[in-house]
Amino acid sequence: MLFFDANATTPCCDEAVSALLPFLQQHFGNVSSSHALSHAPLAALASARASVAELVGARPSDVVFCSCATESINSFIFCLAERHPSGHIVAGATEHVAVLAALDRVRSRGVRITLVDAELDGRVLPENVAAACEMDTVLVSLMLANNETGAVNDIPRIAALVRERASALGADTPFLHSDCAQAAGKIPVDLARLGVDAITLAAHKLYAPKGIGATIFREGARRPSPLLVGGNQECGARSGTENVPYAAAFGAAARVSIEQLASGAGEATAKLRGRFAVALKRAADASGIAVALHGPLRDAFAACDEGALAANVPQALPNTLSVAFPGGNASSIVANLASALAISAGSACHAGVDKVSHVLKSMRVDLAEARGTVRVSIARGTSEGDVDAAVTLLVRAAIDGRADTK
Ligand code: PLP
Repeated sequence: MLFFDANATTPCCDEAVSALLPFLQQHFGNVSSSHALSHAPLAALASARASVAELVGARPSDVVFCSCATESINSFIFCLAERHPSGHIVAGATEHVAVLAALDRVRSRGVRITLVDAELDGRVLPENVAAACEMDTVLVSLMLANNETGAVNDIPRIAALVRERASALGADTPFLHSDCAQAAGKIPVDLARLGVDAITLAAHKLYAPKGIGATIFREGARRPSPLLVGGNQECGARSGTENVPYAAAFGAAARVSIEQLASGAGEATAKLRGRFAVALKRAADASGIAVALHGPLRDAFAACDEGALAANVPQALPNTLSVAFPGGNASSIVANLASALAISAGSACHAGVDKVSHVLKSMRVDLAEARGTVRVSIARGTSEGDVDAAVTLLVRAAIDGRADTK
């Protein structure tokens, strides 16, 4: 099975597995216990916190572990909405459903929501985000990298313009949040440079287990009240007995990601992405089927600009391609490939639901193109041979899909 679905999830790296195992049986203690069984888990938790903090340039004391990115995101939205029941929230229309569904819930309770559409390149214009802010905007939430298109938003500029807008309005600066679940481990994430109050991470997107995530606050940020209350773990920021095995694995995987990014993994992945895109264009052209890319590499693909497609540019994740076969059916392409090539139609969270992606709708992508769009996301350890084989399979499936619909 060729795995090209790394934006859905990733396998645990060896380092994460080795870090996790001792805390299942040998060092099983509860961090909150007063006896010696708490010592090793406590030390592991501290070390994991330091590694995750280092991945995003934060202080360990500003890292709050939680169960997943969804929990982190939900907690901001629910807690700020509870505090400001008639307030206003601004978010990107291309955000993950973890944001959009939480916004739907608070909207039904009276909070006003403005969703800012993306441009055709998949990115949200910072000026549009700032313009959407009002006197009573309490939260602005914009993802760093989009899970479907790989488009990377200019979060530093968004944060700067939102602050300027609040000050021009004479309003309090809204809480600024960025969902960095898809960005972390793939591109450098630096909390201070982003200029937001908090970011969200999901461990399983960076070769650690599912079931753990983190919220990381800017030093000195005003923190919304916690979603989970109880035993006051995580310094009161998130109650619930700490998941030490998974935190240890998250820390180990974060460390590997730091090393990988420093040793040029982003550039190497972008080269593979370029190879995929160029081979795809050539194979589709040779077979007479139409193909296009959505997102930041759209024009480079149309022009078959090999250099641009293989470059690790700031506006695109190096591993993601949103591939459109206009007139095709993404669900049947993905289903036909299911045992040979793992890709997805839109995001995995929508799997099985045959509807047009809200991300592509927001970008005002043509419907026939959107319905035929699959997401290819390259994983660590992928070879050039894997890329070539995946392209062959994908183009064959697109051709077969076309024959089926005739
Ligand atoms: N945010 C983004 C951008 C994602 O891609 C995902 C998962 O696909 C999430 C949030 C939610 O992550 P989880 O399901 O692990 O909570």
